[in-house]
Amino acid sequence: MRTRSRARPGDPAWPSAATWEKLNQAVGGQLLKPESPFARCGVTPLSTACSDALAQLKNPYFIGDQPALTQTSGWADAWTLQSSVYAVAARGTADIVAAVNFAREHNLRLVVKGGGHSYQGTSNAPDSLLVWTRHMNEVAMHDAFVARGCEGTQAPQPAVTLGAGAMWSDAYNAVTTQGGRYVQGGGCATVGVAGLVQSGGFGNFSKNYGTAAAGLLEAEIVTADGKVRIANMCTNPDLFWGIKGGGGGSLGVVTRLTLRTRELPETFGGMFGKIKASSDDAYRALIAKVVEFYESSLFNRHWGEQIAFTSDTVNVSMVFQGLSQQQAEATWAPLTDWVGARKEYSVEQPLKLLALPARSFWDPEYFKQHAPGVLLKDDRPGTPAAHVVWAGDKEQVGWYIHGYQSAWMPASLLRKDRQAQLVDALFASTRHWDVGVHFNKGLAGAPASEIDAVRNTAMNPDALSAFALAIIASSGPPTYAGLPDVNSDPAAARADASHIEKAMTELLRVMPGAGSYVSESNYFQGDWQTAFWGTNHAKLAAVKKKYDPDGLFFVHHGVGSEAWSEDGFSRLQR
Ligand SMILES: Cc1cc2nc3c(=O)[nH]c(=O)nc-3n(C[C@H](O)[C@H](O)[C@H](O)COP(=O)(O)OP(=O)(O)OC[C@H]3O[C@@H](n4cnc5c(N)ncnc54)[C@H](O)[C@@H]3O)c2cc1C
Repeated sequence: MRTRSRARPGDPAWPSAATWEKLNQAVGGQLLKPESPFARCGVTPLSTACSDALAQLKNPYFIGDQPALTQTSGWADAWTLQSSVYAVAARGTADIVAAVNFAREHNLRLVVKGGGHSYQGTSNAPDSLLVWTRHMNEVAMHDAFVARGCEGTQAPQPAVTLGAGAMWSDAYNAVTTQGGRYVQGGGCATVGVAGLVQSGGFGNFSKNYGTAAAGLLEAEIVTADGKVRIANMCTNPDLFWGIKGGGGGSLGVVTRLTLRTRELPETFGGMFGKIKASSDDAYRALIAKVVEFYESSLFNRHWGEQIAFTSDTVNVSMVFQGLSQQQAEATWAPLTDWVGARKEYSVEQPLKLLALPARSFWDPEYFKQHAPGVLLKDDRPGTPAAHVVWAGDKEQVGWYIHGYQSAWMPASLLRKDRQAQLVDALFASTRHWDVGVHFNKGLAGAPASEIDAVRNTAMNPDALSAFALAIIASSGPPTYAGLPDVNSDPAAARADASHIEKAMTELLRVMPGAGSYVSESNYFQGDWQTAFWGTNHAKLAAVKKKYDPDGLFFVHHGVGSEAWSEDGFSRLQR
């Protein structure tokens, strides 16, 4: 039953044009009416405006620059991209305070968008007011940061402060390429720092440095009452804990974040290749060998990223830190020798390993010289040199999800007496769909101090004892309004989702009740409170109630969202 609804355009309670104009003045003229650049293609497909926009369809920086767009263009049977009626293109905290107060006072549906990478569609909603942080992308380095209120109790430490609209490419450029240090962020360079930290946040090297959230020292956040609060371990520690993995868009609008920085190791590197088996039996033996090899040689702080198991092929796409080229090659020799000695396997893509100076890992100039085509720059004129994207991540730009599920894989499955069960489950799962095993998104194998730091965040504790996160997904090309609807076959999308469900069911047989990573998860996840936060959910719900008792901040399957209708417009009677 519904008791209270937020205002929509056309409702008597919807603010008048004059009232909107007052907000516009309060935010220095930064109130926009978002418009998709692809909308013109629906009206004048042959226009230059349309062809210019189409040329940028796979450029994540272009997509991120549009207040009307998101990096995922939709999800079959789940959500369709619909932009807000108005957006505040915030330039500072005061603009965000004005927007939050306006939404609360006028009973509006409020949406927050940073990098725009939400799979769940939580940074867009029709009939809403958007707070868009894109322009708040300042970066400042500190030699000796002490969180406010922690003077005398927290030792000064090197850190970086990032505006809520900064992306990881901005952070890596300042901290690593320019500064020669390391900050734990995300793997994809165009993800927003605020969204990722509130997800928990895994990066390539999380097996050594933990999550992004665990490295948070302080945040500034505008809560539902319009107050600007500092959150750190000494000031508002409950809110601080909640934004470390409690999920974006639920507790307030984060305006800036300060993260610890670390010493860089000498090297980072990557390892890529594909091995194909000629029969089911050979494939099962290959999976067994890979599992055994992972447990004995890669299950440690050095190795991260993923191996994908397709129906007959093992697709290696791993990264490493702190090992020389020679050490990394020696690590892999037992597996490559084993494969090389057996005629039932063919090397579809030769296993190739490259170690590089860690400082060059996000440096487009280095890649241009040594591995062209791997790290690409935003190619629009005048864009910052630091705005890079891994070629592999371009596949996801604008994608339309057919199905997506994830589950943390407990490290107990790597025990010798359980490996056969894991192999059987992987083999059975790959009869239905490809399975990606993301080793850097499970923390077992990481140093104990890093696991302890993640324990002190809102993330599901299942992540601490998992060796990896399994991700099973399928998608189609971008479907932005105005473009031809290339995903117009719902039956095909549903068939993919059904295969994914079957594939995940096979895995869950050996890891029943496994938790799922809030930001990389199934839109239709059942018992999502437990799946996303496990035993931390009750505490997170209490933080939500304290800082946002009236539910101004709503996102699909966000903490406290069960009190609202699916679209976040109507409060449900308890
Ligand atoms: C291509 C791609 C690659 C990815 N790679 C990784 C990865 O390597 N590791 C990983 O852990 N995750 C990864 N993710 C998931 C990603 O971390 C989450 O989707 C994250 O929430 C995105 O943040 P964003 O700011 O880019 O997105 P947005 O869609 O802008 O925001 C995500 C959520 O956070 C909220 N939010 C954003 N900014 C703020 C703010 N300032 N204050 C309050 N709430 C805010 C939004 O309302 C929304 O609910 C990836 C996603 C994509 C699409």
